[in-house]
Amino acid sequence: MGDTPPAANGLNDRLLRSWLRCRRKAWLDLHADPDLRQWTAHRNLQLDAQQRCFSALLGEPPGHGEQACQRGDLGVVGLRLKGRGADGSALEAHPPLLMRVKGQSRWGAFAYQPVLARQGRRLTREHQIPLALMADLLGQEQQSPVTAMLVVGAGPRRLERHRVGYSSGLRRQLGEALRKLSLDLERSTPPVLAADRRKCSLCCWRQLCGRQASKDGHLSEVSGIGAKRREMLHELGIQGLNDLAQADPEQLALQMERFGDQHGEAARSLVAQARVQRDGRPERLDPTSALPELEAAPGVLLYDIESDPDVRHDFLHGFVLLPRRADGRWDPEAARYHPLLVLRKHDEALGWRRLHKLLCAYPSWPVLHYGETESLALRRLAQRQGLPEPQRAQISTRLIDVHARVRRHWRLPLSSYGLKSVASWRGFRWSQAGADGARALLWWRQWQGDGPQRRRRSQTLRWIFQYNRDDCLATWAVADWLSRQDPDGVGGG
Ligand code: SF4
Repeated sequence: MGDTPPAANGLNDRLLRSWLRCRRKAWLDLHADPDLRQWTAHRNLQLDAQQRCFSALLGEPPGHGEQACQRGDLGVVGLRLKGRGADGSALEAHPPLLMRVKGQSRWGAFAYQPVLARQGRRLTREHQIPLALMADLLGQEQQSPVTAMLVVGAGPRRLERHRVGYSSGLRRQLGEALRKLSLDLERSTPPVLAADRRKCSLCCWRQLCGRQASKDGHLSEVSGIGAKRREMLHELGIQGLNDLAQADPEQLALQMERFGDQHGEAARSLVAQARVQRDGRPERLDPTSALPELEAAPGVLLYDIESDPDVRHDFLHGFVLLPRRADGRWDPEAARYHPLLVLRKHDEALGWRRLHKLLCAYPSWPVLHYGETESLALRRLAQRQGLPEPQRAQISTRLIDVHARVRRHWRLPLSSYGLKSVASWRGFRWSQAGADGARALLWWRQWQGDGPQRRRRSQTLRWIFQYNRDDCLATWAVADWLSRQDPDGVGGG
Protein backbone atom coordinates (compact mmCIF):
# COMPACT_ATOMS: atom_id res chain seq x y z
CA MET A 1 0.00 0.00 0.00
CA GLY A 2 2.97 2.33 -0.49
CA ASP A 3 3.47 5.29 -2.79
CA THR A 4 4.07 4.96 -6.47
CA PRO A 5 7.56 6.31 -7.11
CA PRO A 6 7.82 9.31 -9.43
CA ALA A 7 7.31 8.32 -13.05
CA ALA A 8 10.50 7.98 -15.04
CA ASN A 9 8.49 8.28 -18.26
CA GLY A 10 4.95 9.44 -17.83
CA LEU A 11 2.57 10.59 -15.18
CA ASN A 12 1.30 8.74 -12.17
CA ASP A 13 -1.26 9.03 -9.39
CA ARG A 14 1.29 10.27 -6.88
CA LEU A 15 2.40 13.20 -9.03
CA LEU A 16 -1.21 13.97 -9.78
CA ARG A 17 -2.11 14.01 -6.08
CA SER A 18 0.87 16.26 -5.31
CA TRP A 19 -0.08 18.61 -8.16
CA LEU A 20 -3.67 18.87 -6.96
CA ARG A 21 -2.32 19.87 -3.56
CA CYS A 22 0.23 22.35 -4.88
CA ARG A 23 1.59 22.71 -8.42
CA ARG A 24 5.07 23.35 -7.08
CA LYS A 25 5.05 20.16 -5.03
CA ALA A 26 4.65 17.92 -8.09
CA TRP A 27 7.59 19.67 -9.75
CA LEU A 28 9.77 19.32 -6.64
CA ASP A 29 8.78 15.65 -6.24
CA LEU A 30 10.13 14.97 -9.71
CA HIS A 31 13.08 17.34 -10.04
CA ALA A 32 14.38 18.43 -6.61
CA ASP A 33 17.14 16.75 -4.62
CA PRO A 34 15.34 14.04 -2.61
CA ASP A 35 17.76 14.59 0.31
CA LEU A 36 16.10 17.95 0.87
CA ARG A 37 12.78 16.31 1.66
CA GLN A 38 11.74 16.48 5.29
CA TRP A 39 10.01 13.66 7.06
CA THR A 40 6.41 14.47 7.93
CA ALA A 41 4.15 12.61 10.30
CA HIS A 42 1.23 13.46 8.06
CA ARG A 43 1.97 10.74 5.51
CA ASN A 44 2.36 8.10 8.22
CA LEU A 45 -0.87 9.21 9.85
CA GLN A 46 -2.54 8.86 6.50
CA LEU A 47 -1.19 5.34 6.03
CA ASP A 48 -2.21 4.40 9.55
CA ALA A 49 -5.75 5.73 9.02
CA GLN A 50 -5.89 3.93 5.66
CA GLN A 51 -4.86 0.65 7.24
CA ARG A 52 -7.61 0.93 9.86
CA CYS A 53 -10.28 1.90 7.33
CA PHE A 54 -9.42 -0.95 4.98
CA SER A 55 -9.42 -3.51 7.81
CA ALA A 56 -12.87 -2.29 8.89
CA LEU A 57 -14.11 -2.37 5.29
CA LEU A 58 -12.87 -5.85 4.38
CA GLY A 59 -12.90 -7.72 7.66
CA GLU A 60 -10.19 -9.98 6.22
CA PRO A 61 -6.62 -9.45 4.95
CA PRO A 62 -6.47 -8.41 1.28
CA GLY A 63 -4.80 -10.54 -1.39
CA HIS A 64 -1.79 -9.34 -3.34
CA GLY A 65 -1.36 -8.53 -7.02
CA GLU A 66 -2.56 -10.18 -10.21
CA GLN A 67 -2.99 -13.63 -8.63
CA ALA A 68 -5.43 -12.25 -6.06
CA CYS A 69 -7.46 -10.73 -8.91
CA GLN A 70 -7.51 -14.06 -10.72
CA ARG A 71 -8.76 -15.76 -7.54
CA GLY A 72 -11.41 -13.05 -7.12
CA ASP A 73 -10.29 -12.02 -3.61
CA LEU A 74 -12.56 -9.48 -1.95
CA GLY A 75 -9.76 -6.96 -1.51
CA VAL A 76 -6.54 -6.65 -3.52
CA VAL A 77 -3.44 -4.56 -2.88
CA GLY A 78 -0.15 -4.19 -4.73
CA LEU A 79 -1.48 -4.09 -8.27
CA ARG A 80 0.44 -1.58 -10.38
CA LEU A 81 -1.69 -0.35 -13.25
CA LYS A 82 -0.19 0.89 -16.50
CA GLY A 83 -1.96 2.24 -19.53
CA ARG A 84 -2.47 5.12 -21.93
CA GLY A 85 -4.30 8.42 -21.65
CA ALA A 86 -6.75 9.73 -24.25
CA ASP A 87 -3.80 11.46 -26.01
CA GLY A 88 -1.73 8.25 -26.00
CA SER A 89 0.60 9.32 -23.15
CA ALA A 90 1.93 6.72 -20.69
CA LEU A 91 0.12 6.67 -17.34
CA GLU A 92 0.61 4.69 -14.17
CA ALA A 93 -1.25 4.22 -10.88
CA HIS A 94 -0.91 2.15 -7.77
CA PRO A 95 -4.35 1.97 -6.10
CA PRO A 96 -4.11 1.51 -2.34
CA LEU A 97 -6.95 -1.03 -2.53
CA LEU A 98 -9.19 -2.69 -5.12
CA MET A 99 -12.49 -4.11 -4.02
CA ARG A 100 -14.48 -6.79 -5.78
CA VAL A 101 -17.85 -5.72 -7.16
CA LYS A 102 -20.53 -7.26 -9.37
CA GLY A 103 -19.66 -7.33 -13.06
CA GLN A 104 -17.66 -9.15 -15.67
CA SER A 105 -13.92 -8.81 -16.23
CA ARG A 106 -11.10 -10.70 -17.87
CA TRP A 107 -10.63 -12.47 -14.50
CA GLY A 108 -14.17 -13.89 -14.35
CA ALA A 109 -17.74 -13.11 -13.35
CA PHE A 110 -16.77 -10.19 -11.14
CA ALA A 111 -14.89 -6.91 -11.48
CA TYR A 112 -13.01 -4.49 -9.26
CA GLN A 113 -13.29 -0.86 -8.22
CA PRO A 114 -10.56 1.34 -6.71
CA VAL A 115 -10.90 2.42 -3.08
CA LEU A 116 -9.29 5.36 -1.28
CA ALA A 117 -9.24 6.21 2.40
CA ARG A 118 -9.86 9.90 2.99
CA GLN A 119 -8.30 11.94 5.74
CA GLY A 120 -10.32 14.81 7.06
CA ARG A 121 -14.06 15.06 6.82
CA ARG A 122 -14.62 16.26 3.28
CA LEU A 123 -14.39 14.58 -0.06
CA THR A 124 -12.30 16.80 -2.35
CA ARG A 125 -10.79 16.95 -5.83
CA GLU A 126 -7.62 15.55 -4.27
CA HIS A 127 -9.51 12.30 -3.72
CA GLN A 128 -11.72 12.24 -6.78
CA ILE A 129 -9.27 12.98 -9.59
CA PRO A 130 -6.57 10.43 -8.65
CA LEU A 131 -9.41 7.93 -8.18
CA ALA A 132 -10.59 8.70 -11.69
CA LEU A 133 -7.08 7.97 -13.01
CA MET A 134 -7.10 4.63 -11.18
CA ALA A 135 -10.55 3.87 -12.55
CA ASP A 136 -9.40 4.55 -16.12
CA LEU A 137 -6.36 2.34 -15.86
CA LEU A 138 -8.21 -0.40 -13.98
CA GLY A 139 -10.85 -0.40 -16.74
CA GLN A 140 -8.08 -1.03 -19.29
CA GLU A 141 -6.48 -3.71 -17.11
CA GLN A 142 -9.61 -5.71 -16.30
CA GLN A 143 -11.15 -5.07 -19.73
CA SER A 144 -14.32 -3.76 -18.21
CA PRO A 145 -15.05 -0.10 -17.52
CA VAL A 146 -15.25 1.16 -13.95
CA THR A 147 -18.43 3.13 -13.36
CA ALA A 148 -18.04 3.93 -9.66
CA MET A 149 -15.27 4.24 -7.06
CA LEU A 150 -15.35 4.12 -3.29
CA VAL A 151 -13.98 6.51 -0.67
CA VAL A 152 -13.97 5.39 2.97
CA GLY A 153 -13.19 7.38 6.09
CA ALA A 154 -13.33 6.93 9.84
CA GLY A 155 -16.42 8.62 11.29
CA PRO A 156 -16.87 9.37 14.98
CA ARG A 157 -18.71 6.05 15.41
CA ARG A 158 -18.27 3.89 12.36
CA LEU A 159 -16.70 3.66 8.93
CA GLU A 160 -18.20 6.12 6.44
CA ARG A 161 -18.51 5.13 2.76
CA HIS A 162 -18.98 7.45 -0.19
CA ARG A 163 -19.69 6.15 -3.66
CA VAL A 164 -18.14 8.32 -6.36
CA GLY A 165 -19.70 7.86 -9.80
CA TYR A 166 -17.31 8.12 -12.74
CA SER A 167 -19.13 10.92 -14.56
CA SER A 168 -18.18 12.55 -17.84
CA GLY A 169 -17.49 15.75 -15.86
CA LEU A 170 -14.93 13.93 -13.74
CA ARG A 171 -13.37 12.41 -16.85
CA ARG A 172 -12.98 15.91 -18.31
CA GLN A 173 -11.42 17.20 -15.09
CA LEU A 174 -8.94 14.33 -15.11
CA GLY A 175 -7.91 15.03 -18.72
CA GLU A 176 -7.46 18.72 -17.96
CA ALA A 177 -5.46 18.05 -14.78
CA LEU A 178 -3.13 15.61 -16.57
CA ARG A 179 -2.55 18.08 -19.37
CA LYS A 180 -1.63 20.91 -16.99
CA LEU A 181 0.47 18.63 -14.80
CA SER A 182 2.46 17.54 -17.83
CA LEU A 183 3.12 21.16 -18.81
CA ASP A 184 4.20 22.06 -15.27
CA LEU A 185 6.63 19.15 -15.08
CA GLU A 186 8.32 20.22 -18.30
CA ARG A 187 9.21 23.65 -16.86
CA SER A 188 12.86 24.36 -16.13
CA THR A 189 12.01 26.17 -12.86
CA PRO A 190 9.44 25.26 -10.20
CA PRO A 191 6.00 26.88 -10.19
CA VAL A 192 5.38 29.63 -7.61
CA LEU A 193 4.78 28.88 -3.93
CA ALA A 194 1.30 27.72 -2.93
CA ALA A 195 -1.15 30.60 -2.66
CA ASP A 196 -2.37 29.22 0.65
CA ARG A 197 0.79 28.66 2.67
CA ARG A 198 -1.10 26.95 5.52
CA LYS A 199 -0.87 23.71 3.56
CA CYS A 200 2.94 23.96 3.65
CA SER A 201 3.05 22.87 7.29
CA LEU A 202 2.14 19.32 6.17
CA CYS A 203 4.46 19.23 3.19
CA CYS A 204 7.83 17.49 2.93
CA TRP A 205 9.27 20.49 1.04
CA ARG A 206 8.33 23.05 3.69
CA GLN A 207 11.89 23.86 4.68
CA LEU A 208 13.07 24.35 1.12
CA CYS A 209 10.07 26.53 0.25
CA GLY A 210 10.22 28.41 3.56
CA ARG A 211 13.82 29.38 2.83
CA GLN A 212 12.84 30.52 -0.64
CA ALA A 213 9.92 32.55 0.71
CA SER A 214 11.99 34.42 3.26
CA LYS A 215 14.82 34.97 0.76
CA ASP A 216 12.34 36.52 -1.69
CA GLY A 217 10.50 38.47 1.03
CA HIS A 218 7.35 36.70 -0.15
CA LEU A 219 4.13 38.38 1.00
CA SER A 220 2.90 35.16 2.58
CA GLU A 221 5.75 35.57 5.08
CA VAL A 222 3.93 38.53 6.62
CA SER A 223 1.72 37.38 9.48
CA GLY A 224 -1.93 38.08 8.61
CA ILE A 225 -1.60 37.65 4.84
CA GLY A 226 -3.37 34.67 3.34
CA ALA A 227 -4.00 33.81 -0.30
CA LYS A 228 -6.83 36.33 -0.76
CA ARG A 229 -5.04 39.35 0.72
CA ARG A 230 -1.90 38.50 -1.20
CA GLU A 231 -3.86 38.64 -4.43
CA MET A 232 -5.34 42.03 -3.49
CA LEU A 233 -1.92 43.44 -2.65
CA HIS A 234 -0.51 42.15 -5.93
CA GLU A 235 -3.31 43.93 -7.72
CA LEU A 236 -2.26 47.13 -5.97
CA GLY A 237 1.33 46.66 -7.10
CA ILE A 238 2.71 45.39 -3.77
CA GLN A 239 4.78 42.34 -4.59
CA GLY A 240 6.74 41.58 -1.43
CA LEU A 241 7.39 42.25 2.24
CA ASN A 242 9.63 45.24 1.56
CA ASP A 243 7.06 46.90 -0.73
CA LEU A 244 4.46 46.50 1.99
CA ALA A 245 6.77 47.87 4.70
CA GLN A 246 7.40 50.96 2.55
CA ALA A 247 3.73 51.57 1.75
CA ASP A 248 1.83 54.53 3.18
CA PRO A 249 -0.64 52.86 5.59
CA GLU A 250 -3.40 55.47 5.14
CA GLN A 251 -3.24 55.36 1.38
CA LEU A 252 -3.15 51.57 1.35
CA ALA A 253 -6.17 51.48 3.68
CA LEU A 254 -8.12 53.59 1.19
CA GLN A 255 -7.07 51.39 -1.72
CA MET A 256 -7.93 48.17 0.11
CA GLU A 257 -11.34 49.41 1.18
CA ARG A 258 -12.56 48.75 -2.32
CA PHE A 259 -12.24 45.00 -1.58
CA GLY A 260 -14.32 45.44 1.61
CA ASP A 261 -14.21 47.58 4.77
CA GLN A 262 -12.46 44.89 6.80
CA HIS A 263 -9.51 44.89 4.38
CA GLY A 264 -9.18 48.65 4.68
CA GLU A 265 -9.05 48.34 8.44
CA ALA A 266 -6.45 45.58 8.26
CA ALA A 267 -4.14 47.55 5.95
CA ARG A 268 -2.56 49.68 8.68
CA SER A 269 -1.68 46.71 10.85
CA LEU A 270 -0.33 44.77 7.84
CA VAL A 271 2.06 47.61 7.03
CA ALA A 272 3.09 47.84 10.69
CA GLN A 273 3.62 44.06 10.83
CA ALA A 274 5.75 44.13 7.67
CA ARG A 275 7.88 46.93 9.17
CA VAL A 276 8.43 45.01 12.40
CA GLN A 277 9.47 41.93 10.42
CA ARG A 278 11.73 43.92 8.11
CA ASP A 279 13.45 45.66 11.05
CA GLY A 280 13.51 42.60 13.33
CA ARG A 281 12.32 44.65 16.32
CA PRO A 282 9.18 43.89 18.39
CA GLU A 283 6.73 46.72 18.97
CA ARG A 284 4.66 47.16 22.09
CA LEU A 285 0.97 47.79 21.38
CA ASP A 286 -0.45 48.13 24.86
CA PRO A 287 1.53 49.60 27.75
CA THR A 288 -0.54 47.92 30.47
CA SER A 289 0.61 44.70 32.10
CA ALA A 290 0.07 41.71 29.78
CA LEU A 291 -0.36 39.20 32.60
CA PRO A 292 -1.54 41.04 35.73
CA GLU A 293 -2.96 37.77 37.09
CA LEU A 294 0.58 36.54 37.74
CA GLU A 295 1.53 39.38 40.04
CA ALA A 296 0.20 37.81 43.22
CA ALA A 297 -0.19 34.19 42.06
CA PRO A 298 1.47 31.58 44.32
CA GLY A 299 2.06 29.39 41.27
CA VAL A 300 0.77 28.63 37.78
CA LEU A 301 -0.59 25.55 36.05
CA LEU A 302 0.71 25.32 32.48
CA TYR A 303 -1.80 23.40 30.41
CA ASP A 304 -1.65 21.68 27.02
CA ILE A 305 -3.94 19.13 25.36
CA GLU A 306 -3.09 16.41 22.82
CA SER A 307 -6.00 15.27 20.65
CA ASP A 308 -7.05 12.82 17.99
CA PRO A 309 -9.19 15.07 15.75
CA ASP A 310 -10.57 12.22 13.63
CA VAL A 311 -12.44 10.74 16.59
CA ARG A 312 -12.67 14.06 18.49
CA HIS A 313 -10.85 12.68 21.48
CA ASP A 314 -8.63 14.73 23.81
CA PHE A 315 -6.47 11.87 24.99
CA LEU A 316 -4.02 13.83 27.11
CA HIS A 317 -4.49 16.80 29.43
CA GLY A 318 -0.95 17.72 30.43
CA PHE A 319 -0.05 20.15 33.23
CA VAL A 320 3.19 21.54 34.53
CA LEU A 321 2.84 22.78 38.11
CA LEU A 322 5.16 25.74 38.53
CA PRO A 323 5.35 27.17 42.07
CA ARG A 324 6.70 30.45 43.28
CA ARG A 325 9.26 30.81 46.02
CA ALA A 326 8.73 32.86 49.18
CA ASP A 327 10.92 35.63 47.72
CA GLY A 328 8.46 36.00 44.80
CA ARG A 329 10.66 34.35 42.16
CA TRP A 330 9.36 31.50 40.05
CA ASP A 331 10.90 28.15 40.87
CA PRO A 332 11.47 26.08 37.69
CA GLU A 333 13.57 23.58 39.69
CA ALA A 334 10.45 22.62 41.63
CA ALA A 335 8.22 22.37 38.52
CA ARG A 336 6.41 19.04 38.21
CA TYR A 337 4.76 17.49 35.17
CA HIS A 338 1.33 15.98 35.72
CA PRO A 339 -0.14 14.09 32.73
CA LEU A 340 -3.80 13.06 32.83
CA LEU A 341 -4.39 10.41 30.21
CA VAL A 342 -7.93 9.67 28.99
CA LEU A 343 -7.46 6.27 27.39
CA ARG A 344 -10.81 5.98 25.70
CA LYS A 345 -13.38 8.54 24.78
CA HIS A 346 -15.94 6.98 27.08
CA ASP A 347 -13.54 7.27 30.04
CA GLU A 348 -14.26 10.99 30.03
CA ALA A 349 -16.08 11.03 33.40
CA LEU A 350 -13.10 9.46 35.16
CA GLY A 351 -10.69 11.82 33.37
CA TRP A 352 -12.80 14.79 34.37
CA ARG A 353 -12.84 13.77 38.08
CA ARG A 354 -9.03 13.64 38.12
CA LEU A 355 -8.73 16.90 36.25
CA HIS A 356 -11.22 18.67 38.51
CA LYS A 357 -9.41 17.37 41.58
CA LEU A 358 -6.16 18.82 40.30
CA LEU A 359 -7.75 22.22 39.60
CA CYS A 360 -9.35 22.24 43.06
CA ALA A 361 -6.02 21.38 44.73
CA TYR A 362 -4.55 24.67 43.45
CA PRO A 363 -7.54 27.00 43.58
CA SER A 364 -5.64 30.28 43.32
CA TRP A 365 -3.20 29.24 40.59
CA PRO A 366 -3.98 30.68 37.15
CA VAL A 367 -4.10 28.15 34.30
CA LEU A 368 -1.94 29.27 31.38
CA HIS A 369 -2.40 27.80 27.91
CA TYR A 370 -1.51 28.84 24.36
CA GLY A 371 -4.46 29.29 21.96
CA GLU A 372 -8.16 28.67 22.40
CA THR A 373 -8.17 24.88 22.25
CA GLU A 374 -7.58 24.22 25.93
CA SER A 375 -10.09 26.71 27.32
CA LEU A 376 -12.81 25.61 24.88
CA ALA A 377 -12.18 21.93 25.59
CA LEU A 378 -12.08 22.37 29.36
CA ARG A 379 -15.21 24.49 29.52
CA ARG A 380 -17.14 22.09 27.30
CA LEU A 381 -15.91 19.13 29.31
CA ALA A 382 -17.01 20.75 32.60
CA GLN A 383 -20.42 21.44 31.10
CA ARG A 384 -20.84 17.90 29.79
CA GLN A 385 -19.89 16.55 33.19
CA GLY A 386 -22.54 18.67 34.89
CA LEU A 387 -20.37 21.12 36.83
CA PRO A 388 -22.70 23.89 38.12
CA GLU A 389 -22.50 27.22 36.32
CA PRO A 390 -20.92 29.25 39.19
CA GLN A 391 -18.03 26.76 39.38
CA ARG A 392 -17.64 26.75 35.62
CA ALA A 393 -17.44 30.53 35.65
CA GLN A 394 -14.77 30.30 38.36
CA ILE A 395 -12.67 27.97 36.21
CA SER A 396 -13.12 30.27 33.21
CA THR A 397 -11.68 33.24 35.10
CA ARG A 398 -8.56 31.19 35.86
CA LEU A 399 -7.92 30.28 32.22
CA ILE A 400 -5.46 32.62 30.53
CA ASP A 401 -4.74 32.39 26.82
CA VAL A 402 -1.11 33.49 26.50
CA HIS A 403 -1.42 33.67 22.70
CA ALA A 404 -4.27 36.23 23.01
CA ARG A 405 -2.19 38.29 25.42
CA VAL A 406 0.77 38.28 23.04
CA ARG A 407 -1.46 39.48 20.21
CA ARG A 408 -3.04 42.20 22.30
CA HIS A 409 0.20 43.61 23.72
CA TRP A 410 2.88 43.00 21.10
CA ARG A 411 3.69 43.03 17.44
CA LEU A 412 6.52 40.55 16.92
CA PRO A 413 9.08 40.22 14.10
CA LEU A 414 7.70 36.79 13.17
CA SER A 415 5.69 35.39 10.29
CA SER A 416 3.61 33.34 12.72
CA TYR A 417 2.36 33.88 16.27
CA GLY A 418 2.05 30.12 16.88
CA LEU A 419 3.65 28.59 19.96
CA LYS A 420 6.53 26.99 18.04
CA SER A 421 7.45 30.23 16.36
CA VAL A 422 7.13 32.58 19.37
CA ALA A 423 8.77 30.27 21.94
CA SER A 424 11.64 29.46 19.54
CA TRP A 425 12.15 33.19 19.05
CA ARG A 426 12.50 33.48 22.83
CA GLY A 427 15.21 30.81 22.70
CA PHE A 428 13.13 27.85 23.89
CA ARG A 429 14.18 24.49 22.42
CA TRP A 430 12.02 21.37 22.31
CA SER A 431 13.92 18.37 23.65
CA GLN A 432 12.83 16.10 20.77
CA ALA A 433 13.90 17.42 17.38
CA GLY A 434 11.10 17.67 14.81
CA ALA A 435 8.32 16.76 17.26
CA ASP A 436 4.94 18.34 16.59
CA GLY A 437 1.25 17.68 17.19
CA ALA A 438 0.98 15.36 14.19
CA ARG A 439 3.90 13.27 15.37
CA ALA A 440 2.42 13.09 18.88
CA LEU A 441 -0.80 11.81 17.31
CA LEU A 442 1.14 9.22 15.34
CA TRP A 443 2.89 8.07 18.54
CA TRP A 444 -0.49 7.83 20.21
CA ARG A 445 -1.88 5.66 17.41
CA GLN A 446 1.24 3.49 17.47
CA TRP A 447 0.97 3.08 21.21
CA GLN A 448 -2.69 2.13 20.94
CA GLY A 449 -2.01 -0.55 18.34
CA ASP A 450 -5.18 -2.47 17.55
CA GLY A 451 -6.63 -2.36 21.05
CA PRO A 452 -5.88 -2.51 24.79
CA GLN A 453 -4.18 -5.94 24.56
CA ARG A 454 -1.75 -4.65 21.96
CA ARG A 455 -0.47 -1.61 23.84
CA ARG A 456 3.15 -2.59 24.07
CA ARG A 457 5.10 0.38 22.82
CA SER A 458 5.39 2.24 26.11
CA GLN A 459 8.32 4.20 24.63
CA THR A 460 5.98 6.14 22.37
CA LEU A 461 3.85 7.14 25.35
CA ARG A 462 6.94 8.56 27.04
CA TRP A 463 7.69 10.57 23.90
CA ILE A 464 4.15 12.00 23.93
CA PHE A 465 4.52 13.04 27.57
CA GLN A 466 7.88 14.63 26.87
CA TYR A 467 6.50 16.55 23.90
CA ASN A 468 3.43 17.66 25.85
CA ARG A 469 5.58 18.76 28.81
CA ASP A 470 7.79 20.74 26.44
CA ASP A 471 4.73 22.52 25.03
CA CYS A 472 3.72 23.50 28.57
CA LEU A 473 7.24 24.80 29.25
CA ALA A 474 7.28 26.64 25.92
CA THR A 475 4.06 28.37 27.00
CA TRP A 476 5.89 29.41 30.14
CA ALA A 477 8.86 30.70 28.12
CA VAL A 478 6.48 33.08 26.33
CA ALA A 479 4.50 34.04 29.47
CA ASP A 480 7.70 34.69 31.41
CA TRP A 481 8.99 36.95 28.65
CA LEU A 482 5.68 38.84 28.57
CA SER A 483 5.83 39.40 32.35
CA ARG A 484 9.40 40.59 32.24
CA GLN A 485 8.54 43.30 29.73
CA ASP A 486 6.31 45.05 32.26
CA PRO A 487 7.95 47.99 34.11
CA ASP A 488 7.68 46.08 37.41
CA GLY A 489 7.98 42.67 35.75
CA VAL A 490 7.28 39.63 37.91
CA GLY A 491 9.69 37.33 36.07
CA GLY A 492 12.82 35.83 37.50
CA GLY A 493 13.61 32.27 38.35
S1 SF4 B 1 5.99 23.62 0.98
FE1 SF4 B 1 4.16 24.69 0.29
S2 SF4 B 1 4.75 25.76 -1.57
FE2 SF4 B 1 6.31 24.24 -1.15
S3 SF4 B 1 5.73 22.46 -2.33
FE3 SF4 B 1 4.89 22.20 -0.32
S4 SF4 B 1 2.82 23.03 -0.37
FE4 SF4 B 1 3.92 23.78 -2.19
